[in-house]
Amino acid sequence: MKCVTCGDEILPERAALGFKYCTKAKCVRENRQGLTVIEISQHKTNPEYIILDSERGGQALKDMREGKYRRDPVVVQRQPARTDVAVAKGKFGKPKIQRYDPNRVKFVQALRDQGYRVEEIVEKGAYMNLTRSEVVRYMSGRTRG
Ligand SMILES: [Zn+2]
Repeated sequence: MKCVTCGDEILPERAALGFKYCTKAKCVRENRQGLTVIEISQHKTNPEYIILDSERGGQALKDMREGKYRRDPVVVQRQPARTDVAVAKGKFGKPKIQRYDPNRVKFVQALRDQGYRVEEIVEKGAYMNLTRSEVVRYMSGRTRG
């Protein structure tokens, strides 16, 4: 498994977690955006972090459905750290209060981007009481009601 950015070998443990890039700061910076990472609480040890769009991520969703985890995994992906977007000052009014949990939106959109259909996403999101209407809304990107 080679880093998609610099071509260096990636540690097998890292590749198994779904990473497609190495730990060099440059490669991390260029690649970390857009990944959905879930945190799985562990008993008496540090939480485990898994990229949802990976073999381990698929297994984690399956384990979750089968009730393997003591606590539900949560999506911990950060907002893409885009700082290169120039926002015209005064053009927008006050930011609206976000009514939706961004983690739920990200969960739905991450699965949508992987080609899952509404029913499948509802099923995968059942552990967090995700409703069908929420899935439909988040899939279309309408997150502000
Ligand atoms: Zn690299």
